Order: sequence, then structure tokens, then C-alpha cells
Amino acid sequence: MATIRRLDDAARERIAAGEVVTRPARAVAELVENALDAGASRIDVEVDGDGTELIRVRDDGRGMSPEDAERAVERHATSKIADAADLDAVETLGFRGEALASIAAVSRLELVTNDGGPRGTRVRVADGETRVQSAARGEGTTVTVRDLFHNRAPRRETLAAAATEFSRISRVTSRYALIRPDVRFRLVHDGMESFSTPGSGDDADALLGVYDRDVASESAAFEHETSATVDGEAHPLRVDGVVCYPSVTRATAAHVAVAVNGRAVRADALRRAVREGYGSLLPDDRHPVAVARVSLPSAAVDANVHPAKTEVGLRVGDAATDAVRTAVADALSTADLRRTAEVTMDLDASLAPVESDSAFADATVVGRFRDLYLLCEADDELLVVDQHAAHERINYERLRSTVDGGVETAPLDPPATLSLSPTAAATAEANREVLARIGYELAPFGGDAYRVSAVPAPLGRVADPESLRDVLDVLADGGSPADRREELLADLACHPSLKAGDELSTADAEELVDRLGGCEQPYACPHGRPTVLSIEEATLAKGFGRSATRMD
Ligand code: ADP
Ligand code: MG
Repeated sequence: MATIRRLDDAARERIAAGEVVTRPARAVAELVENALDAGASRIDVEVDGDGTELIRVRDDGRGMSPEDAERAVERHATSKIADAADLDAVETLGFRGEALASIAAVSRLELVTNDGGPRGTRVRVADGETRVQSAARGEGTTVTVRDLFHNRAPRRETLAAAATEFSRISRVTSRYALIRPDVRFRLVHDGMESFSTPGSGDDADALLGVYDRDVASESAAFEHETSATVDGEAHPLRVDGVVCYPSVTRATAAHVAVAVNGRAVRADALRRAVREGYGSLLPDDRHPVAVARVSLPSAAVDANVHPAKTEVGLRVGDAATDAVRTAVADALSTADLRRTAEVTMDLDASLAPVESDSAFADATVVGRFRDLYLLCEADDELLVVDQHAAHERINYERLRSTVDGGVETAPLDPPATLSLSPTAAATAEANREVLARIGYELAPFGGDAYRVSAVPAPLGRVADPESLRDVLDVLADGGSPADRREELLADLACHPSLKAGDELSTADAEELVDRLGGCEQPYACPHGRPTVLSIEEATLAKGFGRSATRMD
């Protein structure tokens, strides 16, 4: 292993500039990446509060010599690349030599390490001073970061509530746990284990550690080999990972973990490709739980495009997204899927979303189509109402107006048992009051199980206990309390709504249309899809070859 050296000016100039550590989760990501680069088979992450109090990352990797330990905290000091040319083919997660120095500049950092020698080394950096001593430690490295941003008041002010910052930390840590099922991960928050994985190398084991049994048991691992052309030469391109069946969905795309050459990246295009691989198996507003690892020759990947290294440049055109899409689609086509494809509708241009205010003034229900759509006559228009979307809108507005005073709830008898991921459980604990206010009653029930004894029941329609997962997802994503409430209400409004095919009497149908007309915004469901389409009589007349002037 090369020793740590300072990068020269040429290399420094080429390094993507920008702030490395913007929030506690970024510091955790950098320390975990260092541990993985050191070949760790076990990584323990400990966090107190929002992470500014304490972050400790302990690994059993190869450690550092006393000389290296001292140099490690210097700016632009790295053992991973030697010069600017090495930036073209980075093989490690780190390469800029900036993380430890950047973290040390805004915290009190302590590093204890041993590369297998008789004694270890302790390096302390605080207020610009570095102190080195010998210390007892077995092979590996422990980095402890206290008082993060103590000297950066503006940074501290941009941090969200502790539960939200911790959920970000939990996400980056669990992403690496999913990307590297061969490494044992453990995350501890305020002294309590948040999750752990066994490091067995098995994707389902990692899913079980990070999520729960329901997720792990509905999953299929996959691998797919192809090739990509880089500068006229064909190189192997490999995609592997795990997909959860479409019966397991989430409200946000945050549960798709994507890695390029072992690095957790945002890579929206690759995430989209995962989603596309599911095709019409997922409803429009739902996202899968999946892990996709793309492996390419390092020369085809530009790791140096983003200060926090959360994006990479791929020099293979569409080959990577194509491969991910194909791999996921193949995995799902061979998997035993419980859910059948949702119908996608191709709307003809003559069906226009309704916008006029008087549309419902004198609408009369004249029929139904496929137990899904209500057909209404209104002046010289035929209105087609999506009864599900309409009900969502009605529920949403009603919920919004009553939520401050509490939502009607329905007791579940017997109570439902849900297994929650550690992150979801932490969110539930942190948001007990909010959950109660919107109608959920729950209590821990041993292990990862939670007992749900009451659910929201707006308009007398009882929510599916599973809807709690989405609510927790929205809560974990943070955002302002107002946004959170709106989103939450939109999702809630959706669950107890009429599903396609529910029987409605004519009187019910009339009432539904009436109530929709009474809504503040009757023309779209809370997720923005239209509730009503209209067909003008003239369109029908034209289609049947009747002109407006030839009424015979
Ligand atoms: P980079 O990872 O970009 O090289 P860092 O500032 O993160 O920069 O780390 C500087 C150097 O310290 C690394 O190149 C590596 O040699 C050493 N180092 C950091 N963390 C560890 C660790 N957990 N185990 C072993 N060596 C480490
Ligand atoms: Mg690093």
C-alpha cells in the first residue's frame, strides 16, 4: 500500500472544487468510504443527536502507520492517487485527500489507528492544532468527530431537526450496507442499534438488516453482463443487485440504491433506469426498493465531477442505463410477481381536462364505464369523472379542513402487525404526536414489529395499515412542516379512497360528483392528476359525421 503524500499543484487544480462536508451525513459518508477503501470487513457507525455531537466510525481495515496517521489529516494528502494522470482512472472511493482535513477544520477530530504494528497511533486535531501520541488499538482505524460545525454557525443553522439529519445519516449508511452486503455494518444512534447487517455477501440478508422481513422475502437477486464501447474499444459492463417485487413499493425514489464501481451515487439517470425496468408493474406515483451495482473499467468512469463525489461521469453513452433497465426487467420477468400490470391509459387529444368553474353546476350522472368512470351530462359536454381521483380530492380537502382538530380514526380489531425498518421505526418514534393527530395508533411489539391499533378513517373509509409506511417515508424525508403536512394528507387521502371497481349506487355516484363540485380545486386529485375529462358534443358530432349545422 502506498504511503500518504501531498498532491502536487497540477493534481490539485484538477480536483472538482466545492465544499466537501455540508452536513453530518456527508461526514459519515466520507468516513465510511475511507473504511471501505481500507478493505474493512466490518464498519461500526455511532452517532449522537443530529451528528454534530458525535460521529464515530470504527473499522477493521488495514490501518495507518504513525507517519501516515499524522499526514492523513493534512489537506490534499492521500495514499490513493499519486498525480493528476491517476485522476483519469480512480480505483478507490477517495482520491482527493480532503475529507479528513475538511472535517477536522470544522470539528474536534480524533483518529486512532494501527496498521498491524505493536503500537497504534492517536492523532488529535482541534482548533488548528495537531497532536500525535501512541495508543493501544488492534489493526484498523477509529475516527471520532465531535462538535461538528462548532465554528461554523451559518452551517449549523441550515441543519434540519435531529430526526431528519439522522435519517440522512441512516440513508447513506444503509445505502453502503446494501451496496456492500459482504461487509458487516452496524449503525448506532444515541446508544441504540438502528440497524445491522451480517456481512454474509447475500443481498437478501442486507435487505433484512436495513429493512424488514416483508421486504427481504419479496426480493430477487440478479446479475447481467454485457459490454460497452469506450474510445472505440469494447469493455465488460456488469450490473448486479437485487430487486423487490412490485408488491413492495415506496412513495419516494430514495429506496433505489445505485452504485458505480462500488461508490454510492445519486445518478438519477441510473435510478430512472431501475424504475423503467419495472415498466408498468408499478403505478405512476410509486417507487421500487432495489439495489443496482454497475461495474465498469475505471477508465470509463469520471469520479471527479462533483465535490461530494455523489455523482460520476460515465464515458459509455447509454450503455449503462440500457444495461440497468434490461437487467431489472429480466429479473422481474423471471420472478414470481404477485401483482399484475396496471392499465396505462392513452388519452386521445379530444379528451380535455376540465377547467371551467361551472362544470359541475348541473351535471347529471348518466352512466358508468367499467366501474371506474362516471359519465355525466353537463350542458353540451359529456364529463368523464375518474371516481378514484375524485374521491381522493374530496378526502384531501376534507382532511385538510379537519386535520387540526384531529382526523376520525377507526380501531383495528384485531390490531395489524407491521414489521418496520429501523429507519421507519425511528421516524415513528420521533413523530408519535403527528401520527396520533392524523389517526394512527401504534406501539412497539418486539423485534422490528409494530402493532397498529387504529388507523385514519376519513369519510368513514378505513385506511390500509400499510399506508403507515408511506406516511413514515414522507416524514423521514423532512421538508417544512407545511409541505410535510400537504404531502402527508395527499398520500393519506389516496389510501382510503375508492379503488377502481368499487360498486357505487347511482345515489352514491350523484353524491360523489356533487361533493367534487363543492371542492376548492375539483379538477385534479391531490397528486395532480385530472379528476375529470370532458368531451364536447361537437367532438362527438364530428366523429359521427354530423355537422353542427346539419342536425338531422
Ligand atoms: P482520501 O480518501 O481522498 O485519500 P482522506 O482525507 O479521506 O482522503 O484520507 C486521507 C488518507 O488517510 C487516505 O488516503 C488514507 O491513506 C488514510 N485513511 C483515511 N481513513 C482511513 C481508514 N479508515 N483506514 C486506513 N487509512 C485511512
Ligand atoms: Mg477519503
